[in-house]
Amino acid sequence: MKSALVCGAGGFIGGHLVKRLKREGYWVRGVDVKFHEHAETQADDFVLGDLRDQTICRDVIDQRFDEVYQLAADMGGAGYIFTGEHDAEIMHNSATINLNILEACRKRNIRNIFYSSSACMYPEHNQLDPSNPNCEESSAYPAAPDSEYGWEKLFSERLYLSYNRNYGMRCRVARYHNIFGPEGTWQGGKEKAPAAICRKVAQANSGDAIEIWGDGEQTRSFLYIDECIEGTVRLLRHPSFEGPVNIGSDEMVSINQLVDIIADISGKSLDKNHIDGPLGVRGRNSDNRLIKEKLGWAPNLPLQNGLKETYSWISAQLQRNSIEQVQKLELA
Ligand code: NAD
Repeated sequence: MKSALVCGAGGFIGGHLVKRLKREGYWVRGVDVKFHEHAETQADDFVLGDLRDQTICRDVIDQRFDEVYQLAADMGGAGYIFTGEHDAEIMHNSATINLNILEACRKRNIRNIFYSSSACMYPEHNQLDPSNPNCEESSAYPAAPDSEYGWEKLFSERLYLSYNRNYGMRCRVARYHNIFGPEGTWQGGKEKAPAAICRKVAQANSGDAIEIWGDGEQTRSFLYIDECIEGTVRLLRHPSFEGPVNIGSDEMVSINQLVDIIADISGKSLDKNHIDGPLGVRGRNSDNRLIKEKLGWAPNLPLQNGLKETYSWISAQLQRNSIEQVQKLELA
């Protein structure tokens, strides 16, 4: 039986990846500082541990896993990454995790490691035009990410690839672009745009205005979780291509369009109230030429399909929360 370690298994993408590996018949160990908030883990073994601690890393990497997926990071939506208040934590925590895991894998002679970088490492100056952003993999240098989160990703990409060169490892590096779907963070400040807008729309009544950060003309593409997982396992199992490569959708929309699609799914007619807020770059889209060339595959699910699934999951969470609140009031 093949074995896999998923670091960050208590998180959104890690939780889905564990399910996928279990469906394939793997023995899976998950590790995270927290349990998954929205679903029972399907991992055979789940370790609660802090990967900033070298001893924990050595303990969880106690066997020669066939595959290691390193997704653990200090992470968040624009409200967490772009305010500047968490820069030192983000850089210190994520870089320490990557340094520890990679070295522990090397010592165990584990070669196949997947690392999730982010589109946030692309230079800001190539993403000023919302209708024509450049996120071709080769445009990464000269580097100029607009956040310390992006700089840490860039450092760690280079770290993994240097272990390939110097120690003959087979690390694979992907640059994820805005992944969304059920069982992701949808409230509390760390949620991303699709989840935040699904929640706001689900809470609104027809005729209400929902709050949008900025003028809403900033563009992005959003990748549904199932396709993210597909791209991830395909890349790790590729015999020779190490990346970095974009794993994202190339269906670019403005945030205003995203709101309209979600409002349409909900059947509500809503206005938009544009307010000040942290924004990130003006435009971003996944350039999928390299992934098509190297993997012979690229995501192609229409955005609307993934949003339907996500909207219905978030609506169900809200309903469950309000039922629980009523029950608490009845008991009080
Ligand atoms: P997530 O926050 O849901 O998952 C990350 C997990 O890492 C969390 O469960 C967190 O508890 C865990 N973690 C953080 N610090 C840890 C520590 N010290 N020890 C052990 N576990 C720790 O985020 P996600 O959306 O699932 O993202 C997974 C990876 O993909 C991250 O590396 C992220 O930077 C990258 N990524 C995600 C997106 C996206 O849109 N979701 C986009 C680009 C890159």
